[in-house]
Amino acid sequence: MRTKARIAIIGAGPAGIAAALQLTRTGFKPLIFEQNKVGGLLGNAHWIENYPGFARGISGDDLVQNMREHLARWKIPVRMQRVRGITKKNKKYSIRARRNYKADVLVIASGTAPRKPSFDTGSFGCQVLFEIAPIRKSRGKRIIIIGAGDAAYDYALNLSKRNKVMIVKRTLRSRALALLERRVRSTGNITVMHNSQVTTIGKKQHELQVVIATQDRRLSVACDYLVYAIGRIPAFDFLSPGLKKKFPEGDPTLYFIGDVKNRDTRQVAIAVGDGVKAAMEIAGRSLKNGRL
Ligand SMILES: Cc1cc2nc3c(=O)[nH]c(=O)nc-3n(C[C@H](O)[C@H](O)[C@H](O)COP(=O)(O)OP(=O)(O)OC[C@H]3O[C@@H](n4cnc5c(N)ncnc54)[C@H](O)[C@@H]3O)c2cc1C
Repeated sequence: MRTKARIAIIGAGPAGIAAALQLTRTGFKPLIFEQNKVGGLLGNAHWIENYPGFARGISGDDLVQNMREHLARWKIPVRMQRVRGITKKNKKYSIRARRNYKADVLVIASGTAPRKPSFDTGSFGCQVLFEIAPIRKSRGKRIIIIGAGDAAYDYALNLSKRNKVMIVKRTLRSRALALLERRVRSTGNITVMHNSQVTTIGKKQHELQVVIATQDRRLSVACDYLVYAIGRIPAFDFLSPGLKKKFPEGDPTLYFIGDVKNRDTRQVAIAVGDGVKAAMEIAGRSLKNGRL
């Protein structure tokens, strides 16, 4: 008897969405799990200008909205649940979320988690952040961003439209695209502190008090939010130790796609390409095994 393989996709970012769309076109009914928001990290991006088809560029928010509509049009279900654990027994994956689910094929599209400083930031509540989605619409705030890569510069450009922004970076050199650096310089309202480090964070009433050590002095600066953009690491803690060993190659029933495996090449187009490729491989294998 021909049966359809049950496919679970962990993560509704661009990679997971692309895989789900392609699988659905091929006749599967994939189930996506998402712990936070459909669209993934894209919801933090200011302006996407390297995704083909949008000649003038498109905001991260608008591209997320288009992707949401795409999922809805194909009636692809998204379970808004955090996956807490996945194990494999007798060729079946057991997915532990709010309920337990079974799957024959697993697609890990869970992206990355922010790299965090070595001390506990919990006591500063939501004033210390690792992604800017929660404060994107804020106005008139003083925001310090720590980091020297594309994300730090993109966050600064995004937030400086309505807030006062400072970037603090350890060296003179930057790891961000020259294009983003030029834009940051030309806005004229973003302060960049080179050769500097945040050494202490304190809280006084509602403000954060941040000490910044530059090459020759120490400054005490008050701010409303402090954003860490100091790198990201693959997010697949929820896999059992046996399944973790399969990262990043996977096997014919386990796929890693998008940012979770792409290290230094984390881009929307690549995540989407990975998603479509994995879906086509799953469909091709299923046809061969007579399971479609
Ligand atoms: C500031 C910024 C600017 C950027 N600008 C650009 C740009 O201009 N051009 C470009 O191409 N790319 C850009 N990017 C990168 C782009 O956003 C990513 O490459 C893309 O979002 C990766 O897609 P993904 O689906 O692999 O992962 P993600 O988008 O990270 O999605 C992963 C999803 O998995 C979910 N998830 C994780 N763990 C679990 C779990 N246990 N249970 C359930 N769900 C889970 C997460 O909540 C998330 O929604 C930018 C990124 C940032 C941060």
